[in-house]
Parts: sequence; C-alpha cells; structure tokens
Amino acid sequence: MSDVHALIEVRSPSTGEPIGSVPIATAEDVSEAVASARIAQVEWAARPLAERCRILRQVKDRVIARTDDICALLSQEQGKPRVEGLTTEILGLVDLIQYFTAEAERILAPEPIPLHLMKHRASYLHWVPRGVVGIIGPWNFPFNLNNGPAVAALIAGNAVVIKPSEFTPLIQELSREIFIEGGLPADLYQVVHGYGETGGALIANVDMIEFTGSVRTGKKVAAACGERLIPCVTELGGKAPFLVLEDADLDRTANALAWGGFANCGQVCASVERVLVHRSVLPGLLDRLVPLVKALEPKDTTQDKLAQIGPLNNARQRDIVSSLVDDAVSKGARAVVGGSIIEGPGNFYAPTLLVDVTTDMRIMSEETFGPVLPLMTMEDEESMIAEANRSHLGLLAYVFTKNTRHGRAVAERIEAGTVMINDVLSTHGMPETPWGGVKQSGVGHTHSDASLRGFCEQRHINYDLLPTLKTEPYWYPYGPRLFGMMKRLMGTVYGSSIAQRIRSLRGG
Ligand code: NDP
Repeated sequence: MSDVHALIEVRSPSTGEPIGSVPIATAEDVSEAVASARIAQVEWAARPLAERCRILRQVKDRVIARTDDICALLSQEQGKPRVEGLTTEILGLVDLIQYFTAEAERILAPEPIPLHLMKHRASYLHWVPRGVVGIIGPWNFPFNLNNGPAVAALIAGNAVVIKPSEFTPLIQELSREIFIEGGLPADLYQVVHGYGETGGALIANVDMIEFTGSVRTGKKVAAACGERLIPCVTELGGKAPFLVLEDADLDRTANALAWGGFANCGQVCASVERVLVHRSVLPGLLDRLVPLVKALEPKDTTQDKLAQIGPLNNARQRDIVSSLVDDAVSKGARAVVGGSIIEGPGNFYAPTLLVDVTTDMRIMSEETFGPVLPLMTMEDEESMIAEANRSHLGLLAYVFTKNTRHGRAVAERIEAGTVMINDVLSTHGMPETPWGGVKQSGVGHTHSDASLRGFCEQRHINYDLLPTLKTEPYWYPYGPRLFGMMKRLMGTVYGSSIAQRIRSLRGG
C-alpha cells in the first residue's frame, strides 16, 4: 500500500469521540492484496487438511487468550455490552473453529455417488478450494460474521481478503493480528478498508464472495458477481416474526422477547422484529414484559462493564429507528416504554415497547434493526401465520407454545430459513445447522457442512470398474442395427409394465 491514503476516522458510538483511523484502500491496493493472497493460497492448499486444521486450532487458542482485548474493542467500536462480546461474538467463533476443525476430514472427504444404471463405472465428488474468497461484512457483529466465513474458507484451503464495514474496521485489524499470532501465514488473511468502491474492487478480483449486509447492497453485490460469474453467498436482512400462541409459557416468552429484541441493541439480523400476540394472552404478557424493558438502561459500554444494553452503532441507524417509531406512533401505536432518542452524546435510543401496532405502519414491514418491540394483537393462529408470511424477508421466525408438536406444525408453515420453537437467536451458535434466508433474506448459507463445501469447487470424477473396452456400442460408427438395439434396450429397462418390457425386448 502506498503512503498517501485517505483515512476512515472511527468514532465511539457512546461518545462520538474519535477512537482510531484506518487507510482507505485504492482499487490498486485491493488488486495487490488479492494477488499476494493468491500466491500464499497455492502453498496453503497444498498442505494437508490436518495441518490447516491444526493452525486454525492455534488461532482458536489465541482468540481465547485475547478475549478481554476483543471484548474491550467491541464495546468501544461497535458499542455492545462486554458480556455480549463474549457470548455472541467470541464464543460462537471458538465453537465454529472447534466444530469445523474436528469435522473437516469427514465433510471434505471424497463422496462416492452410487450409479443406478451404469454399474460398470464409478463416480465420486471431490472438493477443491476456490482460490481467494472475498468477505464483505456488516457492523453489527464485526468479529463473528467476518471471521466465521474466513475460518471455513481457510480450512477449505482458500485465502481470504476481508472488507469490513467502515463503522467497524478496527476489530478487523485486531482479528488479523490474532490470526497471525496463531500461526496463519500473513498473506492468507488480508484486510482492505473502505466504502462501497473498495467492496466493488474486491468483487472484481476474487474467486467467490461471501456477503453479509443489507438487501439493497446485497442485490448490487450479487449483480456484480453475476457479471463475473463468480459464486456469491448473500446473508441479508430479516424481519423475524415472533408468534405467541394461546398456550405459550408467558414467563419464558417475556424473557425471550426481551433478549431477542434488545440484545446488541436490536441490531441483529435475527432480532425479534414483529411480535404477534394472541389477544387472550396479551395482558399477562405485558405484565411480565414491561418491567423487563424498563429495566434496560442504555449505558456507555466502555465505562460500565455490567451494562445490559449500549448505544446503536451509528447515527444513521438511530435515525432509521427513530423514523419508524415516529411513523408508528403517528398512526396510532402507543409507546408503553421508551419511544424516543436519548439526547446527549452518542447514538442512544430508549428501549421501546409499542402496542396497538397495525399492518399499515412501516415498522411492520421495514427492517428496524434497533431496540424496539412492536406488538400486534391477533385474534387467531391462522391470521398470525398469514401475518408472519406477509414480508419480503424470511430469515428467522419464532413460535412460542407449550405444545412442541403443534409448534412444529405451525413452524413448518412459516416462510423463513430457520424457525425456532421456544427459543430465539441461538441457532447462529450451532455451526452444524444452516444459517440463511428465503425470499429476499439472501441466497445460500453460512454454517453447516454444505457451507464448508461451498467454499470449494465441487468436482466430479467418473472412471471404469471393469476392464476397458476398445470402444462402446453407442460410439462411432453408427451401424444399421444401433437405433433398433437402443430402442429395445430403452423399452426393456424403463418400461413401466412387464407387458411393455416384453414387447420392447421382442422389438415391438
Ligand atoms: P450494508 O449493506 O450497508 O453494508 C455491508 C457491507 O457492504 C459493508 O462493508 C459496506 O461497506 C459494503 N458495501 C456497500 N456498498 C457496496 C457495494 N456497492 N459493493 C460492495 N460492497 C459494498 O449493511 P450494514 O453494514 O448496514 O449491515 C446491516 C445489514 O446487515 C442489516 O440489513 C442486517 O439485517 C444485515 N445482516 C444480515 C445477517 C445475516 O446473517 N443474514 C447478519 C447480520 C447483518 P460500507 O459500510 O463501507 O458502505
């Protein structure tokens, strides 16, 4: 990188004070980073898988050793409570490394395909790393969401070049330091900073893109990848509905709503964004939920190590939240808790509970991504399911009921990548399960065995089992009897009735 670069200045979400800066990479810087990653990748891919896994396990141990540093920087730069840095960012990554390094030999082993007809031949799949994977990520979980795909891509034998959000670049620098401390060759894990242009330059150079971010940007990224015909996984927005059925356990439901709606100040793609409550349980639920929301007092998370909730990461996001709440209130919703910006330094917004919400309010269709729970009263289960599915997004959904069997039947009718029964958010911490949306929440998955394979080209080998013949009956030259013979064979093998098969065999 040359010496003269424009800088991104990073500001504390709690105070607005500058906390650091990073240089913006030019298009030339990005192509240099990818070129050196490409050289390092060749040597890395040639190493045995067990050796790559061993190094990633060392990285895991360095992550564990640097927990306090990571949590402190996440509080300072992203704004989240110290505990959440550990539970929702670091632990998830540590577990993901543990799972994939333990299972990679099985997941990436060549896979035979039993041939149903051509028994004299055999087929198998094998997995070849794609090369250099570009990772473009958001600011809400900047440690976990960029490093999770990076780990999987690296285990599969790729190099990674990461473009973090301009709001959270510092944690990416610390991540790189930790991966290198763990023994990863430096050129395999590169970081380029900048805005959309830098992301565009990355797409122009790499062999695959893993994108996590908004629907709007996701479409642009997918289109740019389409131009180059490179694979692209998109993890986009969510508008998770939370169905409170008539028989829900209201204590658990209230606790789950508080955490599922306000963890990370609501800036979670899987956050509870629409609460659909059966009318019969609304009073009991509010009795339990209102005190829980009132108890959440936003704090500067760098000062208060026991803060339960912090600021929003940036003023742009706070203004989106504010505008959606104002729109709902102007159309008749009531804020029984919160409902406004907290004046003063930082991007604080009061944790908010809205009731009397209706479908014409923007907050029931646009992603809020903030500390707001809008409650809509519903008369019956059928209208809850219909309302849950009335969204262009479909990432996560939640069903609360004491009857798991019935809950599963409801869950299967909901249009979402994942539906959890009586729990919220936590499948992101289960790396063996697929994470990804339907509708406009994205295409493809992170996590799951399929995602590790997705960082590879799937290649197919087909070979002969019997002694090789000089020729095959259906090759050249086409003799006079070939057509009749193949026709008879087709009818004999594929005919649905015995009579038809016998007819074909006789040449009928
Ligand atoms: P954005 O879409 O604004 O940005 C995501 C990344 O893309 C950033 O690094 C951004 O850079 C970059 N970018 C912007 N324009 C372009 C472009 N033209 N080409 C390439 N890259 C570009 O998302 P946010 O950072 O605001 O993240 C919040 C969103 O992420 C929410 O919608 C949330 O639901 C979603 N999300 C989805 C998850 C999932 O797993 N499905 C998980 C977490 C979040 P810059 O910031 O510099 O503009």
